[in-house]
Amino acid sequence: MANVTIDHVTKSYGALQVMHGVSLDIRDGEFVILVGPSGCGKSTLLRMIAGLEPISTGAVSIGGRVVNDVRPKDRNIAMVFQSYALYPHKTVAQNMGFALKLAGRPQSEIDARVRSAAEILDLLPYLDRFPKQLSGGQRQRVAMGRAIVRSPQVFLFDEPLSNLDAKLRVQMRTEIKALHQRLKTTTIYVTHDQVEAMTMADRIVIMNAGRLEQVGPPLELYDDPQSLFVAGFLGSPSMNFFKGRVEGELVKTRGGLQFALTPDLVQAAAGKSLIVGIRPEHVELAADVADAWEATVVVDEPTGAETQVALKLSGEDLLATFRERLTVKAGDTIKIRLPANRLYLFDETSGRRIAKEQSN
Ligand code: ADP
Ligand code: MG
Repeated sequence: MANVTIDHVTKSYGALQVMHGVSLDIRDGEFVILVGPSGCGKSTLLRMIAGLEPISTGAVSIGGRVVNDVRPKDRNIAMVFQSYALYPHKTVAQNMGFALKLAGRPQSEIDARVRSAAEILDLLPYLDRFPKQLSGGQRQRVAMGRAIVRSPQVFLFDEPLSNLDAKLRVQMRTEIKALHQRLKTTTIYVTHDQVEAMTMADRIVIMNAGRLEQVGPPLELYDDPQSLFVAGFLGSPSMNFFKGRVEGELVKTRGGLQFALTPDLVQAAAGKSLIVGIRPEHVELAADVADAWEATVVVDEPTGAETQVALKLSGEDLLATFRERLTVKAGDTIKIRLPANRLYLFDETSGRRIAKEQSN
């Protein structure tokens, strides 16, 4: 096992710079997920750690050793990709043991390590099968088995579940997490799927256009996003946003919503173009309380466990998620509250969060 340090790493393709001074410390045994929209640089960063892509400036260290000039096969890492081509004419055992065979390990050692990996991955009954005789999930496990048999110091995963159907993805998510809990090998995992990131990671690294937006444990990023980008990226359905300004002690949105602010926030936000955010699950059904708003139902979508309702509120669109069973139809009006302590304020120009106005 090993820690991984990324120190002011940049990457340019010719004149095009795609990575802008990324620094990150990954602890020994940690499960870190790099997440962000397509093209933000996740694969590039992972490939630089793997040694498959040269680093333009900066340094990558694995286990305290700078590996910039170390060949991939000497970095003691193992990588699992989205498209994990297995050798079709080799058995599961031969596929899993192939790297060890190339490395000239004795057959008895290869057999032992393949069996041990197969046991961890529940592949023992399939060792003599060929890839075409396996299900998609079993093939994915063989691809992971190829990585495990090498007992690397670091696992690198690049969207390994993207090709699987939804149900299998959820199952493999649990399996990979259980595998990490068992092996405790430092793992860096790339995905564009925020649910995967939220459910699997010890820490999430949110990337945006070749930079790190925010790094932290999943729920910390969810509860305390430091930018509009992070607030909008995590959460499904995503946070509601309204444009607004401070007037007196209130923040007023374009559509006419208004909220009282604490004096420190009034001061921090005064004069700025603001974005006001509230998560759908923080909208509350209200009886006749003084600060209730009347909203018109546009669409209601019961999912069983909860009800998602698209609302029109004083000219603004608002999506709300209620745990309560709610029988409403388009055109109905309902009373809701937007609790002031659940509001997030962002500077529209910089996209940065303004102070902290939210509690649990
Ligand atoms: P992600 O994995 O987050 O989707 P990538 O790391 O693949 O993103 O790409 C990051 C950026 O680098 C993108 O803008 C992409 O177009 C660019 N890029 C990746 N590989 C190359 C390459 N070989 N040549 C030029 N640009 C590249
Ligand atoms: Mg990628």
